[in-house]
Amino acid sequence: MASRAMNAVINVSRARARVMTRGKRTEGNGARARARGRAFVASSNARELERPPSAETFATYEKKSFFTYECEYESKKSRARVGVIRTPHGDVRTPGYVAVGTNAALKAVKGEVLSEAGIDMMFANTYHVLLQPGADVVGDAFGGLHRMMGRRGALITDSGGFQVFSLGMDENEDNNKGGAVKELKSRNKTKHKQENLLLRVDEAGVLFKSYRDGATMSLTPESSVEAQKKLGADIIIPLDELPPYNISDEKLEESVYRSHRWMARSLRTHLADVRQQAMYGVVHGGVNRDLRKLSVEYLSSLPFDGLAIGGSLGRDSDELIDLLSFLMPLVPRDKPNHLLGIADIGSVERAVTLGVDTFDSCYPTQVARHGTLFTHSRGKINFRRAEFRTSTAPACYECACTLCTKHSLGYLNHLDKANEPLAWTLASEHNLHFMGTKMAKIRQGILDGEI
Ligand SMILES: [Zn+2]
Repeated sequence: MASRAMNAVINVSRARARVMTRGKRTEGNGARARARGRAFVASSNARELERPPSAETFATYEKKSFFTYECEYESKKSRARVGVIRTPHGDVRTPGYVAVGTNAALKAVKGEVLSEAGIDMMFANTYHVLLQPGADVVGDAFGGLHRMMGRRGALITDSGGFQVFSLGMDENEDNNKGGAVKELKSRNKTKHKQENLLLRVDEAGVLFKSYRDGATMSLTPESSVEAQKKLGADIIIPLDELPPYNISDEKLEESVYRSHRWMARSLRTHLADVRQQAMYGVVHGGVNRDLRKLSVEYLSSLPFDGLAIGGSLGRDSDELIDLLSFLMPLVPRDKPNHLLGIADIGSVERAVTLGVDTFDSCYPTQVARHGTLFTHSRGKINFRRAEFRTSTAPACYECACTLCTKHSLGYLNHLDKANEPLAWTLASEHNLHFMGTKMAKIRQGILDGEI
């Protein structure tokens, strides 16, 4: 990384942060939240909750010709809708699944599989690409992720914040009540979790250690946008803070305000150099409904091109749906929305009826590498089980993938036992095909009046 450039960015950010803290807090979203009389309200009076800049300080939202959302059909039975997001790199049919290629690659799967599977958009993680090969390499040497990857379809990148905050999460220390709470959205505790690599979080941004070489790195709202400009994805995400599920309401409220300030800074940086990119705001507030409402109302007032639902989404699918049932009616219908990090079938099927447009998760490809196949008629199956050792049947009769049209479950079982990487490839491709087909069935189900 160009650490001097990073330092310059963080210094500028600190200066801006100092300027911002001089501003006096006035009546606004915070006051409205306190008026609701929840537990977090009583203790927040004594604290400074700096209000993020109001919508009036941004230019009026102008619909961009290179990024539009068109709703084609709204269900009569639910809030489900079929639409299309038009991006500079092609259309994204909604409701749609977004495949996750962490290092700008689908693990063990070539990119063309997405179009074969009917998946229109792919997610790449800014954090991983920043560490290797670096945003400068992607931007200056290759002219962006699309060219580096040879991808023609739509791409979305995140801010890098989710992974950085996950570095600071530890199963034994992320709360004071003994042990972590299991969440629906995995914090992805990775192999480099031997030490806490998250060094500092303050108004400027986050300071962390690279798990690759121990180098100290920073991520600020401005530097994250600048990195995502170099990566060149069609949709970019502003930096936000990711508190754990069981944070106190008081701390959560502070965190939501900080995320709002960071997102406002990100949006300004983006609007100063839009290029052919759209930016989604990220709705926060954990499972606290007052804060979710406050967050969606504030972010909807800013000129974002869409909204993503982020932060802690609860411990299980039921909590997620409970939260979305409350939240989705507040999300504007004239822009697209995205549910961050969730794509298990049960949650997707229910969230679609509440109006969610797109979903991303590494889950389908991750579990494929560990033996799980999704099937249309048998549900989930574990191809490592002894019963499949001699099976000459395909994994799924309804599927058009290579595994299902050319090979048997028994062959896949053998490849896996023999540690042949082809097992990963075939199983991952299959689950991607399943997701593409599943979303097509859901879209058809909405059009047919069944959903
Ligand atoms: Zn298949």
